[in-house]
Amino acid sequence: MTDALPQGTVSLSGVVLRRIAAREGDLSLYLFLRSAGPVWVSAPGAARGRVRFGGAVEPLVWGNFNLYKGTRRLYLKSVDVKEDFWLLRKEPLVLRRLLQWDSLLCRHLLPGHPSDEVLALFYWTSLLLASGVPPGVGEWRFLWRWLNSEGLAPSLTECPACGGPLRDCRWTEGGLLCSKCGRGSSGGVLPEEGRALLSLAASGSPSEVKARFCGKEEDEGFWRSSAARILPLFELLR
Ligand SMILES: [Zn+2]
Repeated sequence: MTDALPQGTVSLSGVVLRRIAAREGDLSLYLFLRSAGPVWVSAPGAARGRVRFGGAVEPLVWGNFNLYKGTRRLYLKSVDVKEDFWLLRKEPLVLRRLLQWDSLLCRHLLPGHPSDEVLALFYWTSLLLASGVPPGVGEWRFLWRWLNSEGLAPSLTECPACGGPLRDCRWTEGGLLCSKCGRGSSGGVLPEEGRALLSLAASGSPSEVKARFCGKEEDEGFWRSSAARILPLFELLR
């Protein structure tokens, strides 16, 4: 599954998704790497302390991973930590969000297949949280943009039934419908104000998102329920 990587030494940037202490003090790490996607990497003896990586092999730590590819497996030689989001980890609400994204990535990314766009999205959205964007807003952005990169995200600007612009609209199984097309459907109502917020959080530039949301009190319920509406779409991935 890592056939794309040449045998021998290679250095790739990425993030630790999972860390499993295996038998006899060996560590197995599930790394999400640039140009390689998610891959399992062995660190023999690391959990016993023979080779020490310290906090560099904890989930959510970003860095350059220096690897050796043998005939059958990848081995971790060393890590240059670039960003451990230490301040984020101290906030339980934020940490929980990041770990939820981490487990979504473990579940839905295809092992051994590069997903650089999603890797970059994971990094940049984590940075937005670090700069004070509320977790619910960051979560919506992360989920919607990931789905959008797969062609699965509902349009936030255009009605899929008539092609007209969305204003006040309704959540339906077929996405967001304009008030005309959604009339009579049982889906929840999304007023224009909420639609505009979702659209900005999803598609705005990082500076627009920071300017609108940083340090502002947000209705967590609104963001959580919006995320819950698109979360089932990930089941279409795999
Ligand atoms: Zn319509």
